[in-house]
Amino acid sequence: MNSDRIEILNDSPVAHGPVVYWMSRDQRAADNWALLRAQEIALETRSPLAVAFCLVPSFLGASPAHFSFMLDGLRETEADLQKKSIPFFLLRGEPETALPAFLAKCGARALVADFDPLRIKRRWKSLVARNVNFRFEEVDAHNIVPCRAASPKLEFAARTIRPKINRLLDGFLTDFPALKKHPFAWNKPAPRNEWPTSPSGGAKPSRPAPGCKAANKALRGFISRRLDSYDADRNNPNIDGQSGLSPYIHFGQLSAQRAALDVRSSGSPGSSPFLEELIVRRELSDNFCFYNDNYDSFDGFHTWAKKTLNEHRADKREYLYSRDDLEAAETHDTLWNAAQRQMAAEGKMHGFMRMYWCKKILEWTSSPEEAMSAAIYLNDKYELDGRDPNGYAGIAWSIGGVHDRAWGERPVFGKIRYMSHNGCKSKFNVNEYIRNHQ
Ligand SMILES: Cc1cc2nc3c(=O)[nH]c(=O)nc-3n(C[C@H](O)[C@H](O)[C@H](O)COP(=O)(O)OP(=O)(O)OC[C@H]3O[C@@H](n4cnc5c(N)ncnc54)[C@H](O)[C@@H]3O)c2cc1C
Repeated sequence: MNSDRIEILNDSPVAHGPVVYWMSRDQRAADNWALLRAQEIALETRSPLAVAFCLVPSFLGASPAHFSFMLDGLRETEADLQKKSIPFFLLRGEPETALPAFLAKCGARALVADFDPLRIKRRWKSLVARNVNFRFEEVDAHNIVPCRAASPKLEFAARTIRPKINRLLDGFLTDFPALKKHPFAWNKPAPRNEWPTSPSGGAKPSRPAPGCKAANKALRGFISRRLDSYDADRNNPNIDGQSGLSPYIHFGQLSAQRAALDVRSSGSPGSSPFLEELIVRRELSDNFCFYNDNYDSFDGFHTWAKKTLNEHRADKREYLYSRDDLEAAETHDTLWNAAQRQMAAEGKMHGFMRMYWCKKILEWTSSPEEAMSAAIYLNDKYELDGRDPNGYAGIAWSIGGVHDRAWGERPVFGKIRYMSHNGCKSKFNVNEYIRNHQ
């Protein structure tokens, strides 16, 4: 494995003894660099290998639908791991206490975690690192070009990170070795997994089916039926033109690298625009959250954006809505209400509408801070792919011009890019969209 995927969090020498992969962001058995690295260490030291997942009772406003999607996926992953003789343990409680207790009980000698740029995950890792006196590594199993390798600093825009990623892409966009059936049996304590009952009462037809098998099926369906027309259709909210892969990528039920490999080898004309979104835009979001601790607040915006928004703080808002009005889809704008309803009903708002939806929140709330907080609350509560760096970057782009440039000045927005109902009308059949999401 390319060693640039690995960050050493405790550099004690690798020693013989149980190896644990602390699964968090990348919830799959196949195509998972962090698990492959854990197995590499275990094989090298002739040691048993297990996977542990910490189930925390509340996580960044995750809803029952999120937990249900995740838990169903994890059960499938447990079964996939079992086939490779790797036990899976579902630990309950905060990782900083639940994980070290488990590691001590089984006498672990090495720990591997997957990379995540979000603050809470980094905090967990630094707390766990304090309680670990053996080898502890973090492996970027989510990005194709690992976040730290792609750039050592906060990037300004897609145009600044793109050449950096492209220069390294061939070295990282390689096929995965297969996970081996593990030859050293787990003869350590093996607490029985107590799975909570599915909190949302089972799958709904309007929502994607959870799990790695469903993710791979969705990828195959997209490549065979919609990839060719991706560029033409993806910005029309009345057409099912996007891949629908974001919940699978978010929960790590699908590796973005697998999607990129399969899309690239299809030779479809849609490959290039799709890979721009999947690789450059997605990895730019990780870069934003990793190098900007204020990724979810006004303080995280560039100086020019803060200045222009500050200059327009006192501007009269033609409409002012509370978070409750927004959540109930009760605004004067039927197009916005339809987008809010789509998100609440399906767990997914169309990508084009997310931009319009978020910009109107800036226009109709009393301050950019309130707009950020309402947009993040709604996005993370209802989008199945919510609580993701893509969401924080998308919201900061819409409200704070992050990764964008200054545009012509206007009320409330200042120089932040504006979007209008009439602009939407010129791009797609607005009435059809409203009818579809009553
Ligand atoms: C206000 C706002 C909020 C958003 N919230 C989220 C969110 O919570 N979670 C989330 O994953 N994405 C979010 N996005 C980004 C984007 O809209 C979604 O990733 C995309 O619509 C998901 O649908 P898809 O998988 O069918 O995308 P496709 O068009 O099929 O794209 C394929 C993949 O590329 C990546 N991608 C696509 N568009 C973007 C983008 N603009 N930025 C970064 N990566 C992208 C995603 O991983 C996506 O799954 C948000 C964008 C905005 C403007």
